[in-house]
Amino acid sequence: ESKGAGRARMCFFSPDMRNRIIAATQMEQSLRSALSRQHLEVHLQPQFSLQSDASLEHQLPRLCGLEALLRWNDPLLGNVSPATFIPIAEESGLIVELGHWVLGQACAVLEDMAIRGHQLPIAVNVSQVQFRSAEFVPQVAALLKRHAFAPDMLRMEITESLAAEDEADMLEKVDQLAALGLTFSIDDFGIGYSNLARLRRMPLSELKIDRSFIKDLRLIDDDGLAAPAPGETPGQEVCHANEIVRAMLVMARALSLEVVAEGVETSEQFEVLRQLGCQRVQGYLLGRPRPMKDVLDEIEAGVLGA
Ligand code: C2E
Ligand code: MG
Ligand code: MG
Ligand code: MG
Repeated sequence: ESKGAGRARMCFFSPDMRNRIIAATQMEQSLRSALSRQHLEVHLQPQFSLQSDASLEHQLPRLCGLEALLRWNDPLLGNVSPATFIPIAEESGLIVELGHWVLGQACAVLEDMAIRGHQLPIAVNVSQVQFRSAEFVPQVAALLKRHAFAPDMLRMEITESLAAEDEADMLEKVDQLAALGLTFSIDDFGIGYSNLARLRRMPLSELKIDRSFIKDLRLIDDDGLAAPAPGETPGQEVCHANEIVRAMLVMARALSLEVVAEGVETSEQFEVLRQLGCQRVQGYLLGRPRPMKDVLDEIEAGVLGA
């Protein structure tokens, strides 16, 4: 090897890379202090189930669950998106602590709801890194001991990549948690590696169809044509999305899984999903993620349809 190559290896990040590393390190430190100073918050987004004859005009879909989503409002950085800070938390390992905190918050809400007589599941996103930690299962078991609620009200959202991990250890942990009564959902379904043989062997209860498919759903008219969205040329892709979602629903039925469509933003998407027989929906059209207290107050007041 040339001297030049050796020297190049010793150092030196490009200024751009260096800045990115500094930014990530600073963000990790800020996130750490946000956790200890309580600048983090869990928001809840409602999920609704549709009766077979439900339409948005005629009857409100029924509230059937909540998803816990982490929010970070930093005094200096402002609102930082989970899409930005979760990967940093995963790289630094801080996600283990963060994830545990979120689970604790969800358990506290579940206990609170149980006391008030509301049986509503809460789904928590669990990172692969968190899942892999040796303390994960015992820590979850300890949380369940500390809080009084039916364990099947706590749902873990894992991704296809975790479900595809070729570690016997992973499956074993899922089985242990399922034995404690927890339920499992595959998040962002359709964009990762799907090992169907493996999915079939896992104690899953739900699939969440990734928003990228929902985004392209279009009502098809009697001639089989989709109305193009503004600025869109009529193409085949939009029709494919309908067919892909239909196929996912068939597959889910074969696996005895419930299906949640995520990221439902328009009444057109909602209508297509209803026609296809998708039973559960989540998205801005029906409800945004909002602070826990606001959501719980609405459930208590009966205005969210619990
Ligand atoms: P996700 O689990 O797939 O969560 C759904 C994301 O879509 C959330 O983004 C939610 O706010 C957003 N969303 C919901 N409805 C709509 C809609 O109609 N339109 C659009 N455009 N977006 C919608 P958020 O809260 O920014 O979270 C992004 C991702 O960060 C989550 O995706 C999840 O993977 C991760 N995340 C969030 N909280 C946690 C957490 O506590 N732990 C872990 N490990 N990951 C988390
Ligand atoms: Mg999720
Ligand atoms: Mg996700
Ligand atoms: Mg998702």
